[in-house]
Amino acid sequence: MKYIVVTGGVVSGLGKGVTISSMGRMLQGCGLRVTSIKIDPYLNVDAGTMSPFEHGETYVLDDGGETDLDLGNYERFLSVSLTSDHNITTGKVYRNVIGKERRGDYLGKTVQVVPHITNEIQEWIERVAHVPVDDAGRRHWEAKEEASSATRAGVDGTKAAAASDDGGRRAGGGGVGVADVCLIEVGGTVGDIESSVFLEALRQFQFRVGPTNFCLTFVSLVPIMGEEQKTKPTQHGVRDLRSVGLSPTVIFCRCKEVLEEGTKAKIASFCHVDGPGCVLSVHDVSNVYHVPLLLLEQKLHRILADKLKLHEIPDLDGRL
Ligand code: ADP
Repeated sequence: MKYIVVTGGVVSGLGKGVTISSMGRMLQGCGLRVTSIKIDPYLNVDAGTMSPFEHGETYVLDDGGETDLDLGNYERFLSVSLTSDHNITTGKVYRNVIGKERRGDYLGKTVQVVPHITNEIQEWIERVAHVPVDDAGRRHWEAKEEASSATRAGVDGTKAAAASDDGGRRAGGGGVGVADVCLIEVGGTVGDIESSVFLEALRQFQFRVGPTNFCLTFVSLVPIMGEEQKTKPTQHGVRDLRSVGLSPTVIFCRCKEVLEEGTKAKIASFCHVDGPGCVLSVHDVSNVYHVPLLLLEQKLHRILADKLKLHEIPDLDGRL
């Protein structure tokens, strides 16, 4: 499993959700199977109790989960069906850890933010990333469940098991209904007290899964003053991110206008990325469904393929 994380800086509501959904759509176009997770660093267990005037409309998932509207973006862009577990909130994580503590699962240990909360977050991400979310994946999953319950009931489950094997395979590949890439969006902005525990969990997570399975990206704002595109807010945002041990591979710059080459070069040289090619312009477009093409034109798929060794995934030869 490859993990691509999107963080954001400078201001909220920059377009992280649209950017990550577009990245997912672009990767699907390259033949990859994609899933996504949204992290919301608030203490509410879910968005069901939150005012729509503050947070926008609550988005309701097929399983009844009440979530942030970014999950709606993911479902619409990616044609997937997510579960309430794909929305991780501080409230849900603490509820689980406190439940375990009350059951005595920690065997008398002092329960702390590090490692207990950070481990819970990492385990949650790994577990949910492997839940099939597209049609073929879900069919495989259901057939597999059917096969195992048939076996448990003493019926011949061979037929169902065979169906499950076929349903889950990518054409010519060996996948079993699980996504190739998991996109993770961290809500809020880098530097918030609320998101620090999630950033620490992700800092540890990059070593847990290894450098070729983890790619961090950063969405920033490039304001225009007079005629000039200003890079300082992005420089400060990336510095905050690097101070917690996370270094972005790609920087997406939201700007009213197309990012100039000089602006890209300046951001690249001050923000420790591999050249201006890793600084992408996500300027205002008339329709957000144009954003995947914008990313493709700037060769985001090639940057991700190099970083995550996507060429090693069966079936993708020649597509990336
Ligand atoms: P975040 O996840 O950072 O809170 P969203 O993805 O929800 O932000 O986007 C915030 C708003 O900005 C939405 O109304 C979205 O349609 C708009 N938006 C995002 N990217 C673009 C873009 N490239 N051009 C125009 N509008 C955009």
